[in-house]
Amino acid sequence: MSKKILLIEPSYKNKYPPLGLMKIATYHKSKGHEVVFFKGCSPNLKLQVWDRIYISTLFTFYWAKTIETIEYYSNSVKKSSNIYVGGVMATLMKDEIKKHSNVTVISGLLNQNGKLGYKDDGTIDYLTPDYSIIDQEHNPLLDYVYPQGDSYIGYATRGCIRKCKFCAVPIIEPEFMNGLSIKKQINSIKKHFGEKRNLLLLDNNILASDRFEEIIEEIKNLGFEKNAQYSTIRNNRTVYLKRYVDFNQGIDARLLTNSKVQKLSEIAIQPIRIAFDDIKFKDIYVQKVRLVAEYGIKALSNYILFNFNDTPEDFYERLRINVELNCEFENKGYASRIWSFPMKYSPIFGPEAKNRKHVGKYWNKEYLRGVQCILLATHGLVGPKMKYFDTAFGRNFAEFKKIITTRPEEKILYRTKEWLNRPFIPRRLFIKEKEV
Ligand code: SF4
Repeated sequence: MSKKILLIEPSYKNKYPPLGLMKIATYHKSKGHEVVFFKGCSPNLKLQVWDRIYISTLFTFYWAKTIETIEYYSNSVKKSSNIYVGGVMATLMKDEIKKHSNVTVISGLLNQNGKLGYKDDGTIDYLTPDYSIIDQEHNPLLDYVYPQGDSYIGYATRGCIRKCKFCAVPIIEPEFMNGLSIKKQINSIKKHFGEKRNLLLLDNNILASDRFEEIIEEIKNLGFEKNAQYSTIRNNRTVYLKRYVDFNQGIDARLLTNSKVQKLSEIAIQPIRIAFDDIKFKDIYVQKVRLVAEYGIKALSNYILFNFNDTPEDFYERLRINVELNCEFENKGYASRIWSFPMKYSPIFGPEAKNRKHVGKYWNKEYLRGVQCILLATHGLVGPKMKYFDTAFGRNFAEFKKIITTRPEEKILYRTKEWLNRPFIPRRLFIKEKEV
């Protein structure tokens, strides 16, 4: 008998489509069920009665929005256990969600039978994601465009060999699994949903794979070699666009060798992402970033964790190291440039995981707010130019501290904006973004 299945992603802003829900869509459609996907709360969908509702979750700091979404649809099923909540937050805060509501909470990946109450649901993690649910042509209900929707999304590995304390991967994907075929995943997406421009790989630690070289060869053979292009029709004309490969979870600098950088430089990687989470890795980080530049990889977008066990001094130092490396590359005539991407740490468990208000041991609210004000001007990124950096973050730590403690805080933002010669953010928007 056909069933009515509703798939819901809460209405937070996100770049990447909900891969888990896309695979659940494929699974239910293969059984002949009616599947509807929506992002957020829809009065029309709420009024209907569904056999099952699946709600995806992401970061724990979206707790309030996620719980609000679960509550919103709680009367749209015959019994609350017919609401299935899965994903990152569901895995990390299973008990907390259960305290709140009697829904079925699913932990981890859908790679074991029985998690959704079916004999064969352990195959879901390996199914081809249903791209039609995120395509507005096929899903007119959807009024959200995923910035990374025109990408093949897949994995060659799951899990990670490391256990960093700030990271949820060891809990969500506890085993490191190697050997998933990217070729099979991409060819299946292409066959069912047409060609995609880019390749987005969600591997947590691709360099830990002993199949790394094979994976790179596969990527090249699939049409993502260096300088690869993608043709599409725009305004009745064929246009050629550059293709990009993005290992969006980052590359582990400790595992980067000459031969691995050589292999990465053979594909259309843009950007390469290398984490610089701890000042104690300074030497190895600098050495590996130089290696990447020597091999001609142009764009680096490097994650800089802060508000964890770091101090404001070492946060400033890590950012400054990147800007100094940019000057070095420019002087040497290398094309590589590093954009730093500061990421504020939030705990993954406990009451503080439910919002973004955590203050690290060596930080305080004033410092965090000051950093946020600087970053608002550039949408969270720190650019490669020294002149910009000296103005935005200061020429040394003393200046940095003075900037982040400047009040009223608008002075921090407007000063950077003025220097960037862009229009000021209207005060209304500024206040809206103040919630963190
Ligand atoms: S290396 Fe990266 S993915 Fe692995 S545990 Fe550490 S932060 Fe997480």
